Amino acid sequence: MKDNRRDFIKKTAAAGLGLGLASMPQFSFAADKKDDKLVGIGLIGVGLRGRNHLDLLLRRDDCTVKAICDIDPAATNLALDMVQKAGKTKPEIYGKDDFDYLNLLKREDIQAVIIATPWEWHTKMAVATMKHGKYAGIEVSAANTLEECWDLVNTYEETGMPCMILENVCYRRDVMAVLNMVRQNMFGELIHLECGYQHDLREVKFNNGKQAYGGGVEFGEKGFSEAKWRTNHSVYRNGDLYPTHGIGPIATYLNIDRGNRFVSLVSMASKSRGLHNYIVDKGGENHPNAKVRWKLGDVVTTQIKTALGETIMVTHDTNLPRPYSLGFRVQGEKGIWMDLNKSIYLEGTSPQAHRWEDTSSYFEKYDHPLWKKYEQRAIGAGHGGMDFFVIHAFIEAVKRKAPTPLDAYDAASWSAISPLSEISIEKGSSAVEFPDFTRGQWINRKPTFALNDEY
Ligand code: NAD
Repeated sequence: MKDNRRDFIKKTAAAGLGLGLASMPQFSFAADKKDDKLVGIGLIGVGLRGRNHLDLLLRRDDCTVKAICDIDPAATNLALDMVQKAGKTKPEIYGKDDFDYLNLLKREDIQAVIIATPWEWHTKMAVATMKHGKYAGIEVSAANTLEECWDLVNTYEETGMPCMILENVCYRRDVMAVLNMVRQNMFGELIHLECGYQHDLREVKFNNGKQAYGGGVEFGEKGFSEAKWRTNHSVYRNGDLYPTHGIGPIATYLNIDRGNRFVSLVSMASKSRGLHNYIVDKGGENHPNAKVRWKLGDVVTTQIKTALGETIMVTHDTNLPRPYSLGFRVQGEKGIWMDLNKSIYLEGTSPQAHRWEDTSSYFEKYDHPLWKKYEQRAIGAGHGGMDFFVIHAFIEAVKRKAPTPLDAYDAASWSAISPLSEISIEKGSSAVEFPDFTRGQWINRKPTFALNDEY
């Protein structure tokens, strides 16, 4: 199989294929006779993120991408080019309109669907996927409103089809080493945790190294990739718009919806300056977007209380100049880890009282077994390798017809922080109760994340 693939790539390179978009490539694909024995995958949304997933799927020999849906032909052409270069069978293309994904879902040769579209489409597409009897792998955040959170849970319960939130940060190597340490009680009982999405997105996206359409000054129709849809959320929403990269790992540490649960939250939003200043600075004060009134506060902080008494602070900070950090802090009876300065302190273990230690020796010692096992396969995968793990877990669960390690309840509880924080801010930072999406099952549900030898 691998040799055939190499030959194919050599031949296609010699034939001068791999053309740019402008010339609308003529694709030529390999036929893989074993395809019907592999897990059939459908991909909805092959923008920047969907193509990352496609790349990982194309490296695997246990699944085949049967169909791709995207309303942007430029995106599907780039995806087809990748499939061809990998020497894999040509997937069927959908995307004649916004709802063509429903036709993809009718296919009987697909067992699982990966959804990497703009936020507003995630829940609709995941619900339809489950209703068509297929596993749904859904990008983050999974839902925007409380109603959508309930739609995910209710559809999962009605259909029995798993819905996995594809939260890759749960699989970050240091994050998993800390999970290992938490599970070995190195921090004692957990008391307070922090996390956040702290990422300067003002420029939003570059197109192949060149600034695309004003790089953050323009958004909506004139924007590129996420700037087409994401920036607009900052015009009309004020809350934590992107909580799951931070809260996902914290939820695995605290066994949320598995013996513990989020009970209530309070959010506060700062004033809004960052996007306006950026537009004036890059586009001039007469640029039409300099008149936009941004609703989103530059820094939104949310405090969550859990049933077992821990507190969590979640930060959303995307519109001011700053280096990237998810700002993890895990603090328990016996010590503390903070990821920003790579520091740890464990009372009785750290050599000096009141002195931070470097984390590297701990992370080597407590490296998670899944990372030890799959380190080589994760090389080259996005975001330092963690993207390999999230797709691997999804595909392995599908192959075994097993539950996914992150599920519809996780998707709902983590994503609900967005609408609940908006409600809290709207009500002058009042406390808001967290819905119990498990309807009481959280008491008896058991942790499943990264507790399996294989995924
Ligand atoms: P993008 O804009 O580059 O891609 C979205 C794609 O969806 C586009 O190609 C668009 O044409 C397509 N699309 C829109 N509506 C559609 C419809 N009705 N039917 C079919 N296709 C449709 O955005 P992106 O950066 O790829 O982000 C996609 C998702 O992935 C977002 O939810 C984002 O938050 C998430 N994301 C996650 C990570 C991560 O690390 N987990 C990283 C980046 C993005």
